Amino acid sequence: MSSKQGAAQGMPDVDRVAANRAAVEARRARAELKRRLRGGEVSPLRVLEQSLVPGDIAATLRITDYLLSFPAIGSVKAERIRQKLEISDRKRLGGLGKLQRQRLEAFVRDRIGAPESGERPPLTVLAGPTAVGKGTVAAYIREHYPEVRLSVSATTRAPRPGEHEGEHYFFVDDEGFDRMLASGDLLEWATVHNKFRYGTPRGPVVEAAERGEPMLLEIDLQGARQVRASMPEARLVFLAPPSWDELVSRLVGRGTEGAEERARRLETAKVELASASEFDEIIVNDEVPRAAARLVALMRGERPEGG
Ligand code: 5GP
Repeated sequence: MSSKQGAAQGMPDVDRVAANRAAVEARRARAELKRRLRGGEVSPLRVLEQSLVPGDIAATLRITDYLLSFPAIGSVKAERIRQKLEISDRKRLGGLGKLQRQRLEAFVRDRIGAPESGERPPLTVLAGPTAVGKGTVAAYIREHYPEVRLSVSATTRAPRPGEHEGEHYFFVDDEGFDRMLASGDLLEWATVHNKFRYGTPRGPVVEAAERGEPMLLEIDLQGARQVRASMPEARLVFLAPPSWDELVSRLVGRGTEGAEERARRLETAKVELASASEFDEIIVNDEVPRAAARLVALMRGERPEGG
């Protein structure tokens, strides 16, 4: 019997019940983390980083479970990798020695194609809840900071007045979008508002990254999560409303939607706001020029003042 179990046996009943409950909760949180890792919702590098934080659930993840969460790694491969990294199968991420951690990180970077840390992230993703004004901030940057490269998305929706092919979007039909998907041309894509499909062409992003040229993507939350999974070195910026009330009035203020649609949008906004914690930076969209200036400062590697 281990000394831990011995201690548990000696505990008063109430403490043992609490300890059991905590253990059940930890198992549940670990299962959830594994699911998010496997689904690409959280990057393996991020989990490794988190595991340095004492008390974080990532610290309690076993090395084998961590390796098994990678696509195309089964138990035989995981075992081989673990031995090569010289990490015992009982190790949890939080208990890795310094050299073990370094070897594991190098393995992960190699596996997912991420560069060594310390380099400036060439890719910045701006996302946020519906109606927060991402498009307006991006348009402001396009106009006032022409040196910032903005990714031009492909979309199946029709151009609006004043929008130009290749400048605001590449306008494609459903078949065209399907072709881009099939040939792996898109870095990420999503159906937005259950209507049209939008996606980021991979070529320009890769090219900019190779040249170390900062680039901005203004996409929805689903897309941001895909970028996090495939390019963990990208910097994810969450554009937040100044307040919940402000978001509500931007969402429903126009008064054009029925009660049911308003309720649905508010529910979506709540869920979307809760995802802020997945982002590296949060910028409050109090005034568009200020939010844009903060974003550009971030991309230049300066710390923006406030928000
Ligand atoms: P709009 O049709 O108003 O130009 O854009 C609608 C939504 O689509 C915005 O929330 C915008 O962030 C999102 N969006 C635009 N381009 C992309 C893209 O390439 N990928 C994803 N995932 N979303 C996009």
